[in-house]
Amino acid sequence: MIQLIRGFKDILPGEVEVWQYIESVARGLFEDFGFKEIRIPIMEKTELFARSIGEDTDIVEKEMYTFPDRKGDLITLRPEATASICRSYIQHKMYADDPVKKFYTIGPMFRRERPQKGRYRQFYQINAEIFGVASPLADVELIFLLKNLFSRLSTGDVEAHINSLGCPECRPVFKAALTEYISSRTDALCSDCVRRKDRNPLRVLDCKVPACREAMEDAPSIIDHLCPACAQHFDVVRASLDSLGVPFVVNKRLVRGLDYYTRTTFEIQTRSLGAQSAVAGGGRYDGLVKMLGGPDMPATGFAIGFDRLAEVAGLDNQDFIRKPDLYIAALDEESGAMAFEWLCALGTQGIQATMDFEGRSLKSQMKRAGRNEARFTLIVGEDERKKGLAILRNMKTREQVTVPLDNLVERMKPLIQY
Ligand code: ATP
Ligand code: MG
Repeated sequence: MIQLIRGFKDILPGEVEVWQYIESVARGLFEDFGFKEIRIPIMEKTELFARSIGEDTDIVEKEMYTFPDRKGDLITLRPEATASICRSYIQHKMYADDPVKKFYTIGPMFRRERPQKGRYRQFYQINAEIFGVASPLADVELIFLLKNLFSRLSTGDVEAHINSLGCPECRPVFKAALTEYISSRTDALCSDCVRRKDRNPLRVLDCKVPACREAMEDAPSIIDHLCPACAQHFDVVRASLDSLGVPFVVNKRLVRGLDYYTRTTFEIQTRSLGAQSAVAGGGRYDGLVKMLGGPDMPATGFAIGFDRLAEVAGLDNQDFIRKPDLYIAALDEESGAMAFEWLCALGTQGIQATMDFEGRSLKSQMKRAGRNEARFTLIVGEDERKKGLAILRNMKTREQVTVPLDNLVERMKPLIQY
């Protein structure tokens, strides 16, 4: 038997309904806030991700699915969506008329990391990006939107963590202070961190190894190193989250693994996921559009881990599974032919009917109607046909009424509609 690839998964009926519901709530909210959907390809030139995400990140170092295509060009299954959305924004000169654009997209991402609960090699993200707004209020809007989405989906126990990563002006000063601190603790750090310390010291801050966390406890805080403009940006973020009533904690360890982030960075964390505590992450990436060959354009965005969100959402899949409105138990061939026509006519009118095509006994068909949790069963056999009617049974109340066969579909509609 051929099985699926490790770290990949099927989302089966019985589980997919919650996904559909989350997706519809997210789409509704995005549209209410003026975001437009954008659909980007699943593969891009490897160069796009290598340049935008940064060579020194876990993603580019070891997680990307990269292949030569038949001509030898390197292509990569997208590990995230932001780079592609920027590429598209630049390629189609979407900044030309009005640079302010708000996008969302929903789809699969691919990272070759160690599969475990909440961590897959194909996983799904819900992304939102705002281009062309330098104001900290764009960051606040995104965090506010996340909070709203999460509460509409009854995800209890989530916490917004925020930090600032500064800008190319103040970050080098902080990096130097951080590198100096790290150098004094090298003995306590894991080998990955020792390797990272010179190339990407910020990443030592979010290493998950307990010994590293402990060693970094008193590390300098970037908040203390912000330049006046970045400090003011961060002040506005905090003040307007406060005035919107969005609770948050300032988390000085919060850094993004991606090189292009500047200033505000945030994560939505939950305790209910164990080790994989981040349900969503995002922040500002003012340098990326320019770096990819576009104009100097501020931008900010987030990515929600859909798989993790589906897990923490307080939703019961049973509430979203659609059960048949009607099971048609046809007891002989001629009745079966009539039943099939009714089934087709009902389907086009929004009434879900199902039937048995094998001519089983009444008893076994009633059992199947029960298993399918149909609300009603319509019984028709030779006897009923002779009388020109069928029997409609309410499966819950067990009440039965007769329905004339003549114009049956129209007659049934009021009887079985909610
Ligand atoms: P983590 O620290 O958990 O590895 P990350 O910083 O790599 O997350 P991002 O690149 O910010 O994650 O992606 C945003 C969100 O996508 C994460 O908060 C998480 O919910 C989800 N996510 C990331 N990687 C995976 C994965 N391999 N499987 C499932 N969800 C994932
Ligand atoms: Mg990761």
